[in-house]
Amino acid sequence: MTQELGGFAALELHPSIVAAVVATGYEEPSAIQQQSIPIILAGHDMIGQAQTGTGKTAAFALPILHRIDPSKREPQALILAPTRELALQVATAFETYAKQMPGVTVVAVYGGAPMGPQLKAIRNGAQIVVATPGRLCDHLRRDEKVLATVNHLVLDEADEMLKLGFMDDLEVIFKAMPETRQTVLFSATLPQSIRAIAERHLRDPKHVKIQSKTQTVTAIEQAHLLVHADQKTSAVLRLLEVEEFDALIAFVRTKQATLDLASALEAKGYKAAALNGDIAQNQRERVIDSLKDGRLDIVVATDVAARGLDVPRITHVFNVDMPYDPESYVHRIGRTGRAGREGRALLLVTPRERRMLQVIERVTGQKVAEVRLPNAQAVLDARIKKLTNSLSPLVGDAESTHGDLLDRLTADIGCSPRALAAALLRKATNAQALTLEAVEREQPLVPTSAPRERTERSGDRPDRGDRERRAPMPLAEGRARCRTALGARDGIAAKNLLGAILNEGGLAREAIGRIQVRDSFSLVELPEDGLERLLTKLKDTRVAGKQLKLRRYRED
Ligand code: AMP
Repeated sequence: MTQELGGFAALELHPSIVAAVVATGYEEPSAIQQQSIPIILAGHDMIGQAQTGTGKTAAFALPILHRIDPSKREPQALILAPTRELALQVATAFETYAKQMPGVTVVAVYGGAPMGPQLKAIRNGAQIVVATPGRLCDHLRRDEKVLATVNHLVLDEADEMLKLGFMDDLEVIFKAMPETRQTVLFSATLPQSIRAIAERHLRDPKHVKIQSKTQTVTAIEQAHLLVHADQKTSAVLRLLEVEEFDALIAFVRTKQATLDLASALEAKGYKAAALNGDIAQNQRERVIDSLKDGRLDIVVATDVAARGLDVPRITHVFNVDMPYDPESYVHRIGRTGRAGREGRALLLVTPRERRMLQVIERVTGQKVAEVRLPNAQAVLDARIKKLTNSLSPLVGDAESTHGDLLDRLTADIGCSPRALAAALLRKATNAQALTLEAVEREQPLVPTSAPRERTERSGDRPDRGDRERRAPMPLAEGRARCRTALGARDGIAAKNLLGAILNEGGLAREAIGRIQVRDSFSLVELPEDGLERLLTKLKDTRVAGKQLKLRRYRED
């Protein structure tokens, strides 16, 4: 149990907050959390220099939740964020950490959505308000008392807010709050304009900066790839096809992620296991021994669980989730390149985490080059190379031992040796995609480009956050939405689903509506009329070798 609570218990946060954090799967506080939480808990003002990816949201959210009074139904904490995406993300984080604090409610306030419900939620007693400055000022114009009870203020990504021209709005907001409030400012950079704000509006602030010593890493070839967060598993699967590794360690942030990724890898036939803080010591040793002697090739671990792991066979480190700070990056990649051998470290970076990458580069004094996800041709070449390597030792004297049999079989079947060899290959490769077209069909990833974060300033058009963009589209009249647990990570593309449903279901193309393929599931719009019959008909349909199991999907 002590191990499970890790360093969070030592921070003296309310047990219900610690319990929620543990349930989220965090094993120990990140450096920024270690340093900021005691300061905020003690009621000091604070300036934290940290970027996305360091765990900064929990660094302020946890102590603020501790300091509010859930029995008082009035706004007590205000978090200002530059964009609606960030505001929504921070609001969701608060909700997660407050899961075991009954009575705590969070409202997100941003432009492009109707003001009425936001104001109502505030008046109904949400204790935590997460807002973009522009929209909050609109509310203040309607009701200048709206912030009168707020005694904790957090400015998140303060430098971004200034860049977006929110300076005047911030001044209005400061004025509308009690002077006795606690103010915490987080910013990736501290230009003069930010320091001026701190001077005017913070009282004797404590400074927190994650001090990073320059660290050198040699003999390890490093690269990064840009991917969307929900495509990490598919990206890892594709990288594994082309990387020639002996043993590999993949780092993720939570216990659940260790389990999810390890089982996705196992499902694809890799010898993989999860290593996290929940795993008992003797089981941990078994996993490490198996990695050492080749019974396992991949271990998916959290930082805590991988501590002290020294396995010379490790040729690759995949940083599937970003480390919290450059030190842990250096620590992680040091798991490879042991005993003077060469190692390779790959880092998956989501568009929001690019700044963290720059910090890593600065601290390590090395450029981490961008590489692209291998394309279908590279995957095909790698598969054929593996096939060649596995078949070539089999040739040997086979012609002298089995040549006569081949002659007889080709004569009996009435086919050419080429036709028979092709049939045997098809059987031996077990339906694996081995043509460019087939591999392309399996390649479900969309190329990564940083999703632009629109703000209230950049136009009046309602901005759709990632969450909103990903919400299912409204259904057309007469259509029903169905779901299958097969998704991109199973190698499914929309056209595979379409083909299977057209062929097996006997439907006309127009009868099928939108098909959305996600990483771990897909949604298909089908005619409501005769749906049950159609689903029965498709009962045994297989796509990419797996059962389709299509079911009606209800959104509620
Ligand atoms: P942030 O820097 O606040 O944007 O956080 C980046 C990511 O790290 C989020 O997905 C958090 O859920 C995750 N995270 C924050 N703190 C921890 C922790 N102590 N352990 C594991 N994951 C964390």
